[in-house]
Amino acid sequence: MANIKKWTSASLGITIEIDHDKCTGEGECVRVCPTSVYKIVNGKSVVENIDNCIQCCACVVACPTQAIKHSSCG
Ligand code: SF4
Repeated sequence: MANIKKWTSASLGITIEIDHDKCTGEGECVRVCPTSVYKIVNGKSVVENIDNCIQCCACVVACPTQAIKHSSCG
């Protein structure tokens, strides 16, 4: 079973999900996100500042293992 972590922003009406079985902690999402939404904790990406998200979808595109799902990024 996938180990899906989920974060929601009530103010933005968005959800970000990260599959921690797929996440390798390489930090591509941390590097590409223009508003510092992510950080790596214990080798996995977590969402720290979802309310900063500008819904650019760079994190979804950059993730080498397709571990990130974003409600605004099909
Ligand atoms: S969609 Fe853009 S702003 Fe939002 S978390 Fe991903 S990279 Fe950061």
